[in-house]
Amino acid sequence: MIAKRPLMRFPFRQTISIARYISRQKRAKKARFPLVLMLEPLHACNLTCSGCGRIREYSDSMSKMVLLADCLKAVDECGAPVVSICGGEPLLYPEIEKLTSEILNRGRVVYLCTNGQVLEKKLSLFKPHPFFNFNVHIDGLQRTHDIIVEKEGAFAKAIGGVKAALAKGFTVCTNTTVYKQTSPSEVRQLIGELTRIGVNGILLSPGYCYEDVDDQSVFLTREEIFEKFRAIRETGNGKRIWSTPLYLDFLSGLREYDCTPWGNVTYNIKGWKAPCYLITDGHYRTFGELMKNVEWERYGPKKDRRCENCMVHSGFEATVALTTGDSLKDALRMARWTLL
Ligand code: SF4
Repeated sequence: MIAKRPLMRFPFRQTISIARYISRQKRAKKARFPLVLMLEPLHACNLTCSGCGRIREYSDSMSKMVLLADCLKAVDECGAPVVSICGGEPLLYPEIEKLTSEILNRGRVVYLCTNGQVLEKKLSLFKPHPFFNFNVHIDGLQRTHDIIVEKEGAFAKAIGGVKAALAKGFTVCTNTTVYKQTSPSEVRQLIGELTRIGVNGILLSPGYCYEDVDDQSVFLTREEIFEKFRAIRETGNGKRIWSTPLYLDFLSGLREYDCTPWGNVTYNIKGWKAPCYLITDGHYRTFGELMKNVEWERYGPKKDRRCENCMVHSGFEATVALTTGDSLKDALRMARWTLL
């Protein structure tokens, strides 16, 4: 049975809170401000996914964790309205319950990004909250997902976690990374399956071509991304898709966007990662130093070779959010899409 359809695509209060924040920053004429803090309290993980850059880049600090107080200091310092708690596997962080509740107490939207392996077991640590979302990583149907994350049974565990969280009234979205081997028809089937289960949202993104990953054959070039996403969209966008139609146009080669590397800032055991979630040219001690010292204009496609094939949502959905109001046509399209 198809789960009951909501009236709005995104949780209403979260949307209003983020819109108000953007409007405040624009009124204050701030040139650069983050929308999302990617908070990585640890890099340890219970999976070893083929396309993951973190477990390779941070292999020398896998056993270390960011102190709870430092995580909260990062949240306060940067002021982003959305905090994406990621990693590593954040459900392995011993103080995940306290970290989540403290961020929610600060009025921020939380996405707890998990591979879902221990989600069902850890659910009792959390309570549904209008600003709280689980974001479960699912890269394909059972066989494909298990191959990508290199663990048999991982898909079943993740889906079990999703169902358990939905049954307890949590908002749950999923995040699917599209690789070279990903079949568009399988992604469409996956969207159908996740919709049937009743997930609130489905996020899609091409994988980033991490230099530290030995098997570069899994990553897509720009042209291949266009082809893949055109095929994925053939049967329509789907009512549960949370990736914006403007971003999906970009992924299909139908429009151009510049990257906004400061839109999603990352804090982890080494400090504020520069310039973005995906590439690392250094770490800064404070958020202020990050914003002031990075030469932001040096990054983005056609500016840095590492950005050449990057179309990942952390760099480009921020651009969509920040530029949609510049065009009435885009603003109306987004408004229509948001209201189901
Ligand atoms: S294009 Fe991608 S890799 Fe380059 S700065 Fe932007 S998000 Fe980072």
